[in-house]
Amino acid sequence: MKLHDFLRRETRPFEPLRPGRVTVYGCGPTVYDFAHIGNFRTFVVYDLLHRHLRWRGHEVGFVVNFTDVDDKTIRGAADAGRLLGEHTEPYARAFLDDAGALGFLPFSAHPRATAHIPAMVAFVENLMEKGHAYRGADGSVYYSVPSFADYGRLSGKREDAEAGRSRTGAGDFDKRDPRDFALWKAAQPVDEQVGAVWESPWGPGRPGWHLECSAMARSLLGDTIDIHLGGEDLLFPHHENEIAQSEAATGRTFARFWLHVRHLKVDARKMSKSLGNFHTVRELLDEGYDPAAIRWALLAAHYRSELNFTRAGLDDATASVQRLLDFRRRVRECPAAPGSGAGLAIRSRERLAAFGSAMDDDLNVPRALAVLWTLVREVNTALDGAGGRMAGEEREAVLEALAGMDGVLGVVDLAAESRRTPDADDERVRDLVEARERARANRDFAAADRIRAELAAGGIRLEDTSEGTRWTRVRGPP
Ligand code: AMP
Ligand code: ZN
Repeated sequence: MKLHDFLRRETRPFEPLRPGRVTVYGCGPTVYDFAHIGNFRTFVVYDLLHRHLRWRGHEVGFVVNFTDVDDKTIRGAADAGRLLGEHTEPYARAFLDDAGALGFLPFSAHPRATAHIPAMVAFVENLMEKGHAYRGADGSVYYSVPSFADYGRLSGKREDAEAGRSRTGAGDFDKRDPRDFALWKAAQPVDEQVGAVWESPWGPGRPGWHLECSAMARSLLGDTIDIHLGGEDLLFPHHENEIAQSEAATGRTFARFWLHVRHLKVDARKMSKSLGNFHTVRELLDEGYDPAAIRWALLAAHYRSELNFTRAGLDDATASVQRLLDFRRRVRECPAAPGSGAGLAIRSRERLAAFGSAMDDDLNVPRALAVLWTLVREVNTALDGAGGRMAGEEREAVLEALAGMDGVLGVVDLAAESRRTPDADDERVRDLVEARERARANRDFAAADRIRAELAAGGIRLEDTSEGTRWTRVRGPP
């Protein structure tokens, strides 16, 4: 497997530091509001990497934190007149619900920054002892950027003082160097108001955002992690500062591979509330979109390429997912051809291998999807030419290849799940489909059409084929 490491600006072979176990840290959501589909583009890539590593036989320790104390969460809690935890917990749960709706494998841990304050305090103490941090007059503690010679290696920015301030805020006048950033922030009245204050050797305060990730990654995964992930906006200053903190504290490489996900655009523009193109996963689900289609729309582009989210794209994704479901049903239900045939079985195994190689190539999803569609086309063509039949061995191999690919993509089972209804309901549909077939056999087309309309109103789509009537449950926008 190869991954693109942004730090060294190269795509190179990936092997975990400790054989058999891969450690991954992905910067998680800041829980002051619902995560939007842009955030979820990044998180879907986390899930893809997680699935692919597991598929390749690795055990994976995958940590995705909740940023539940920072300027935004404190401001959000204050504006809502709530305590910090009262404000953030519902959004943390909403993230887990949305991740579940999009079929994510459970990550290993979702540490909340507020549950790891002692580790953060110890981290700062360590940095102070080593001369990488100093206390300002108000009780805030700053990281001394000039004390870390490698600063700027990730982003290529060594002198950009202004950008370094963007998410650190108050107390800047205490800094010895404009690039220095807060590790610990002395308590402000608004922090007291929402209960975001902890004791420390430097007085009451709260951790800086960058410190949170360094401390949680170290506590849960060790000094050196294999892969660190985040959206491209986190490259600077957040990830640059994480490296400075962690490597100064431990003297070791912090992350061996740095992956950054390109930002999602909506209708070719930056997503923002004021442009009205700001969507959350739950809004799209409420509109009736299939979760598997949302997932498909977010993963179909390569993670380092631009991805533009549009309704038309979501409709295409809905059609792609439906096509895959129909394909799987056709293969599952096709009658066995007499004798044995191995052609499609061999082909399916080759396609599965090609799919795996594409994913091994820095998660090249577009190439992997092209392989998937080739398999679909080949099998459909073979079925068309053989009266819809296939040898049993071939059918097993095709289904196995499809299941293998879906183990990484996570869409087909998810789509089937979202269409699943109680068995009794399915039985009623089967009865109606049979009644319609009887009506057609009796040339009572009015009755047949009535039944079709009744089924359509219930979200059931019929397809009359030479092998009989197939039905599918259609979810999605009307
Ligand atoms: P935040 O909740 O702002 O801390 O962001 C959570 C994750 O979503 C981070 O990894 C961000 O880099 C990522 N992210 C934010 N906006 C977008 C976007 N428009 N497209 C893709 N990822 C994003
Ligand atoms: Zn982070």
